[in-house]
Amino acid sequence: MAKAIVQRPTGTKDVIPSQIHKWNTVEGIVKSQAEAYGFKEIRIPTFEETGLFVRSVGDTTDVVQKEMYSVSATSDRNGVDAGYTLRPEGTAGSIRALIENGLLNEALPQKIFYVLSCFRHEKPQAGRLREFHQFGVEMAGTQDPRADAEVISLAKSILDTAGLRNIQLNINSIGCPECRAKYQQALRDYFKPHLGKMCDTCHNRYEKNPLRLLDCKSEICSEIAKDAPVILDYLCDDCRTHFEKLQNYLMAMDIEFSINPKIVRGLDYYTKTVFEFISNDIGSQGTVCGGGRYDGLIEQLGGKPTPALGFGMGLERLILTMESQNAEFIEEESCDIYIASMGDDAASKAMQLCRVLREDGVRAECDVVGRGLRAQMKYADKINAKFSVVLGDSELEEGKAVLKNMQSGEQCDIPLDDRFGEVFNAMLIAYQLSGEEFEGLDLSALTGN
Ligand code: ATP
Ligand code: MG
Repeated sequence: MAKAIVQRPTGTKDVIPSQIHKWNTVEGIVKSQAEAYGFKEIRIPTFEETGLFVRSVGDTTDVVQKEMYSVSATSDRNGVDAGYTLRPEGTAGSIRALIENGLLNEALPQKIFYVLSCFRHEKPQAGRLREFHQFGVEMAGTQDPRADAEVISLAKSILDTAGLRNIQLNINSIGCPECRAKYQQALRDYFKPHLGKMCDTCHNRYEKNPLRLLDCKSEICSEIAKDAPVILDYLCDDCRTHFEKLQNYLMAMDIEFSINPKIVRGLDYYTKTVFEFISNDIGSQGTVCGGGRYDGLIEQLGGKPTPALGFGMGLERLILTMESQNAEFIEEESCDIYIASMGDDAASKAMQLCRVLREDGVRAECDVVGRGLRAQMKYADKINAKFSVVLGDSELEEGKAVLKNMQSGEQCDIPLDDRFGEVFNAMLIAYQLSGEEFEGLDLSALTGN
């Protein structure tokens, strides 16, 4: 492996051209499915005021406590250091944008989606990066469980379209502030005698947000958490009915799920429904998608009270799962035509023809290095050009050249005048229609020779 003077930061990745088709495939799938469900794209800043994440993600979460990339603001605002943070997730910024742009005063529900990079200072490993990418959706302005079912259905449609199998959907309800208060008390009662053995963070969680005690990754703490009371036994009537209706809608849509009362999700803002899609094919970082309802968040961020929900899907993990299951990625198109040339006049002609072809969207290339003919043809081979043409003095004189199908070796004449683009395009369409079979392609019929 070659070594640059400076390497990329730990936990970041380059996507090189030979891999980009995977990203284009998943981005194409998530966008087209989101649009099929009526979600519209939103783009938000890469960084926000730190306070936005502290208020929304929550100051007892790992994300806010340990994982954020923050800088202090250079100038104070009213004596308060605003400070900025690279977004660790997409919901906070999207909801801020919905409020700030008055979109919650328009037709509800507002349904938005995004594809963006997130930044978390974590220990890098397979499926866990410091800069990673999320596809996410948010739906604001409905408390109906049909909305929950629809958002889950969108995530499921994406995973299906990506060709994935064996992805498990786990759902849970973590109740509303009313029923959660009783549950939090039950959790404190349960954990109190064990606190001596538990980690420092869990002591803090015990005080501030006992639900987080269920999410601790330390072995001792998670072992203790195994027998903790479950939220489902504490749900109020409203939350229970909501959860039951959600299950009925999922069943009506043939979406299989398991109820897992241990899911609380990593972020503080959730209420009622939470869910995760888990792949068992990519090791321990198997959560491909996680989301839920956050009915209090918009009000908490200064908007008018508006129930809402959404999910985030990790695109690196989606790609990893697709790779491990040999799912199909859409291959990038290669060069349509390479125009080789010998001599200055032919080189100019090649450039002119390329320009004309490219205006029509044809992937045309010619020599820009100054190579000899053999080296040019070798290059054409390497870039997988579908067709090639060689231009020299005699071709320019005669006003025609030989067009070669690089795969089958078939050849035909092609005029070098105004008809060049038209003839080549017809050829390309015939080539594309014939797929991998070149045998039946009658080039002479197309060129009128
Ligand atoms: P985990 O439990 O794996 O840490 P999380 O609860 O922190 O996940 P969310 O904040 O819900 O994750 O983010 C949504 C999705 O983003 C996750 O399901 C996962 O697919 C992806 N994701 C989260 N953190 C990372 C990371 N550091 N690297 C790559 N993908 C990530
Ligand atoms: Mg995490």
